[in-house]
Amino acid sequence: MKHFEYFSAHSAEEAVALLQKYSPDALPIAGGTELLVRMKQNLIHPKVLVDITHVPEFQGIALTEEGLRIGSLVTHAEVAASPLVRQFAPAVAAASGSVGAVQTRNLGTLGGNLVSCVPSIDSAPALLVLEAQAVVFGVNGRRQFPLTELFVGPRCSSLTPAELLEAVIIPRHNLGKPTCFSKFGRRKALTIALVNAAACVETNPERTHFSQVRLALGAVAPTPIRAYTAEAYLAGRPIAQEVLLEAGRLAAEDAKPIDDFRASAEYRRHLIGVLTRRVIEGALAGMPKV
Ligand SMILES: Cc1cc2nc3c(=O)[nH]c(=O)nc-3n(C[C@H](O)[C@H](O)[C@H](O)COP(=O)(O)OP(=O)(O)OC[C@H]3O[C@@H](n4cnc5c(N)ncnc54)[C@H](O)[C@@H]3O)c2cc1C
Repeated sequence: MKHFEYFSAHSAEEAVALLQKYSPDALPIAGGTELLVRMKQNLIHPKVLVDITHVPEFQGIALTEEGLRIGSLVTHAEVAASPLVRQFAPAVAAASGSVGAVQTRNLGTLGGNLVSCVPSIDSAPALLVLEAQAVVFGVNGRRQFPLTELFVGPRCSSLTPAELLEAVIIPRHNLGKPTCFSKFGRRKALTIALVNAAACVETNPERTHFSQVRLALGAVAPTPIRAYTAEAYLAGRPIAQEVLLEAGRLAAEDAKPIDDFRASAEYRRHLIGVLTRRVIEGALAGMPKV
């Protein structure tokens, strides 16, 4: 690993000022589970690291007027164990619980996961189906936008070099809605997703028809995506196996999977169909009985 300078910031303003001062040679570091691996592999060589783990504004999980706010520095272990996340956004807790091993979950943060913009990141699909907002802090203060707009391409976010992800907010109107996350990898645990998926499902009161379904997929396109064609197809359709099969087929059309060393595009398309059915059925199964 090449020599670098290290600064520890104790406020959002200080972190952003340091990043701006040393831009373009500086990067923020949170848990370091992604960044340090890439530095050790000589894939990136930042001259300055700004440690943001002591920035108080980026910590904590809280229910606010706007919704459920999860600070970017909250670790996957904390997300997975949080009673608030488990109650109001169970798929988000499940997604964080599926990340790496216990050591990775104890260090790796939700913010680091999202900003890394790796197409297979596990935290994205569940947050996308809950229409989460990203709160970003920069030299001009805070701005907020739909989380979908954070993802620009593989390892490319929409943040400027001196901007930091402060938190994500799951809007109040989506809290407690039935959701499910599922991930398929080459092993049952400690695995990077070949495909991951999440659904948020609403039905008519009799539970015979879908009223609205939001579906998101990871590792099947340059960024995590919503499967809008499948979502539009499902609205108003009966809850039936053939409908789920067609939704899976349409979701595969929404995606742009590639062949790589982990799996072929064709296999990923097959997995999209399987996981689409799995997450929709999982969300339905979590609903109270009619
Ligand atoms: C063994 C192993 C297994 C893994 N398994 C999984 C897995 O199963 N699923 C999965 O999704 N990921 C996995 N990962 C990837 C990684 O652990 C996660 O993405 C983790 O959440 C990254 O968080 P971090 O705090 O460690 O980020 P860091 O490594 O500190 O940072 C990652 C990137 O984000 C930037 N950054 C960090 N925080 C912020 C912020 N608040 N604002 C702006 N930029 C920021 C950094 O500059 C860096 O570019 C694994 C990694 C390892 C090493």
